[in-house]
Amino acid sequence: MAKLCQPRICIIGAGLAGSECALALARQGIKVELFDTKPNIMSSAHHSSNFAEIVCSNSFKNNSPLSASGLLKSELTILNCELLKIANECSVPAGGALAVDRNLFSEIVTNKILNNKNIILHSNCNIIKPFKNAINVFSVGPLPYVGLESKLNEILGKNVLKFYDASAPIVLADSVDMNKAYWGGRYGKDLDYLNCPMTKEQYEVFVDELLKAEKVILKDFEKQDVFDGCMPIEVLAGRGKDSLRFGPLKPKGLPDPNSGREPFAVVQLRKENLEADSYGLVGFQTNLKFGEQKRVFSLIPALKNAEFIKYGVMHRNTFIDAPQVFDKYFKLKQNKDIYFAGQISGVEGYVESIASGLIVAMEIFNRIKGGQNFQFDCKTMIGSLCEYVHSPNSKFMPMNANYGIMCDIHTQNMPKKLTKETKAKLRYDESQMIINKLKEDLKWR
Ligand SMILES: Cc1cc2nc3c(=O)[nH]c(=O)nc-3n(C[C@H](O)[C@H](O)[C@H](O)COP(=O)(O)OP(=O)(O)OC[C@H]3O[C@@H](n4cnc5c(N)ncnc54)[C@H](O)[C@@H]3O)c2cc1C
Repeated sequence: MAKLCQPRICIIGAGLAGSECALALARQGIKVELFDTKPNIMSSAHHSSNFAEIVCSNSFKNNSPLSASGLLKSELTILNCELLKIANECSVPAGGALAVDRNLFSEIVTNKILNNKNIILHSNCNIIKPFKNAINVFSVGPLPYVGLESKLNEILGKNVLKFYDASAPIVLADSVDMNKAYWGGRYGKDLDYLNCPMTKEQYEVFVDELLKAEKVILKDFEKQDVFDGCMPIEVLAGRGKDSLRFGPLKPKGLPDPNSGREPFAVVQLRKENLEADSYGLVGFQTNLKFGEQKRVFSLIPALKNAEFIKYGVMHRNTFIDAPQVFDKYFKLKQNKDIYFAGQISGVEGYVESIASGLIVAMEIFNRIKGGQNFQFDCKTMIGSLCEYVHSPNSKFMPMNANYGIMCDIHTQNMPKKLTKETKAKLRYDESQMIINKLKEDLKWR
């Protein structure tokens, strides 16, 4: 390849997104500088001196290309995603999921960075502002080191930094059993809630299992704020067997149209977006482990086969209200030399963070090369994440890969009743074609 005349590129944060961004650019022959506070300084969630640390669960989620997360992985594989390749090299058995040996994973990533002649590493550096006359990529994660966090709004040019401590799970609308749920607001006031009734027996089993379920152990920095405003459902349940029934699961004014009577308890679901393709479980902020959320919340009859596109979480998570400030390449609208990647940029999850690092790398590569503007299509999972992150949204929250954010054009002109699997297969085929073409057009290696 002809030698590129390139600007200085400073990637701040060698976590999942930053490491991917650096390795991807280095592979194209582009020199980058990578900065991290490690090994001497790190957040309370990080423990290893290695980069690309997996902070919690070791799961990269479903590996089937017919799942949303698997589809994202298949697209990243086409684009030679370095961290995904490494994840596969050090995978551990986990059924249909891709799970990794976390220490080995970080060790291999770190060695690749250290041995790459196109990456200049600056460790022990707490960066608190962008470098002048350089392209900056801030990939500092959901727990940016102290000094930087207070400066971020200044860098972003707006007060758009947000934190969330607690959020409730979200399910895919299609996966709710509508034979067991009914629409209606309390005392017939509106129709915006989807009600999932429970009998006395079902409620009692649910509360018992909720109380027995395994919880995530909170770290010190998370304990301080979490419980003030937002009580986890399992803590409320622990206050007495009827506390949920008199709280968020109150059936008053919600008669079941099938029987005309109020059920013993009702779980309410609320639309998450205008398209109403996903619903949040009202009042279900929780600290249960993800697997336990699936197990216990699936005991609600209408949610027996529900697909959870997002689990409830309770940990500090700094993120940017992305649609206010980013274009579709995770770049500041008001400063084309500043990009953000990873969890802080409005994606959620390990693989999504890696994906955003790769997207930013592709954009920077194309820009340096002087290529035509390109766009990831929203018929791909990568494109859908880009679209989600920059589209106006007054209730913006970080998002992981799920079919709810993808364009659904494949099924528009087709006979109804395509199975979920057929739809997934159509999506997969089309996305692979689009990503392969993009790779070729960009001459991406
Ligand atoms: C407690 C916790 C648990 C999580 N559990 C899961 C989970 O189980 N599954 C899942 O999919 N996702 C999980 N996430 C969400 C997310 O996927 C991970 O946080 C992921 O590591 C994000 O990748 P990243 O590259 O954005 O940030 P990170 O991987 O955190 O990398 C950020 C890097 O930036 C460096 N840094 C920070 N500030 C500075 C600075 N000022 N100067 C220089 N370097 C700096 C840090 O040292 C770090 O190396 C969790 C998040 C948290 C906080």
